Amino acid sequence: MYDYLIVGAGYAGSVLAERLSAGAGMSVLIVDKRPHIAGNAYDSHNDAGLLIHDYGPHIFHTNSKEVFDYLSAFTSWRSYEHRVLARVDGQLVPIPINLDTVNRLYNMNLKPSEVEGFFASMAEPKEHIRTSEDVVVSKVGRELYEKFFRGYTRKQWDLDPSELDASVTARVPVRSNRDDRYFTDTYQAMPLHGYTRMFQRMLSHPKIHIMLKTDYRDILGAIPFRKMIYTGPIDAFFDYRFGKLPYRSLEFKHETHDGHNFQQVGTINFPNEQAYTRITEFKHLTGQKHEKTSIVYEFPRSEGDPYYPVPRKENTDLYHQYQKLAASVPEVLFTGRLATYKYYNMDQVVAQSLAAYKKLIKEERLESAIA
Ligand code: FAD
Ligand code: UDP
Repeated sequence: MYDYLIVGAGYAGSVLAERLSAGAGMSVLIVDKRPHIAGNAYDSHNDAGLLIHDYGPHIFHTNSKEVFDYLSAFTSWRSYEHRVLARVDGQLVPIPINLDTVNRLYNMNLKPSEVEGFFASMAEPKEHIRTSEDVVVSKVGRELYEKFFRGYTRKQWDLDPSELDASVTARVPVRSNRDDRYFTDTYQAMPLHGYTRMFQRMLSHPKIHIMLKTDYRDILGAIPFRKMIYTGPIDAFFDYRFGKLPYRSLEFKHETHDGHNFQQVGTINFPNEQAYTRITEFKHLTGQKHEKTSIVYEFPRSEGDPYYPVPRKENTDLYHQYQKLAASVPEVLFTGRLATYKYYNMDQVVAQSLAAYKKLIKEERLESAIA
């Protein structure tokens, strides 16, 4: 009998498997329906020998020392600060919008002290910031909103920014300086030998048994376990009892090109013209030296693997119905981006799992004290 059955070998499941085995001596069976571990963070070497991220670009960044220290037990790191350019009005300009973005777009020579005034002159003040449109329009005005955010967001989500929670576009700041990094977190680094290698080390404990290409439903009843942790989509767990929770999907088009570099930065965003949202060149992220280079295009889709929860009130309300249902099965813990329907980055999922572990261990102690 396993102590835990864990469904999903992404961050949420793998951190808990590692903690429960190495930290608490429990036996764990971790299953994933995909043929590999690491969930959406999975990376692999393609036919040309280039390290690519099969499910789109994953850049690690966090302000949490606890999360960074935890993962550092399983990998060394390569410092990497992600930079993104957006193709707007025929130019490649920095996104997040900064001083250089506006100077280049409007052929100006503003100083840092002047750019706030420029944004204020363009901005439409809003009393209540409710939507993803409000966030941007209230900071930089409608014109920059149209150039950088409206088209990209409509492509990515098939919704207008006015139909999405403020938190979506609030992920991308606006800057009055020349800082052109996509993130400003304290820790910004890539696992030196890739994400999959890091996950292999997390899951290498002898008390962890891994089953791939396995839907957990196919083994229920056949393999005994005490408790379960579920990291897949929460609506699927309950057979869509209240209807489907919308998850946004992507189609990835990977290409390998001759030549050392394809583009000047890790990612180029295409807010307006193309059917894809962005192109990422992996060598910038991985630092790999190779005579060829690999890129990936991201095409947003409504059907396919669930990648993004869609943050808007009606979906949160539906999720809360499922969350209530989940509370009625206390022997199953729901955690991770899909099971808690949260637009979480990798570090947030790690933090969520570390917190869940502490809570589980308290409960286990309590149960054994009672028994
Ligand atoms: P997942 O990685 O989705 O793992 C869940 C696993 O459960 C999957 O492997 C799935 O196969 C399995 N599963 C589901 N149902 C079943 C079932 N019935 N039986 C068995 N197995 C099942 N985060 C960052 O911090 N930085 C980034 O740059 C970044 N870029 C991203 C780019 C893209 C395109 C996407 C989609 C996400 C990105 N993220 C990024 C977010 C990151 O991928 C997630 O935060 C993280 O991978 C979530 O981990 P998880 O374990 O919750 O979910
Ligand atoms: N966004 C945008 N234009 C951009 C970059 C981002 O409109 O050039 C919006 C868009 O709605 C996107 C969201 O901001 O989905 C969050 O962007 P982020 O780069 O964090 O998306 P992720 O990497 O999670 O796909």
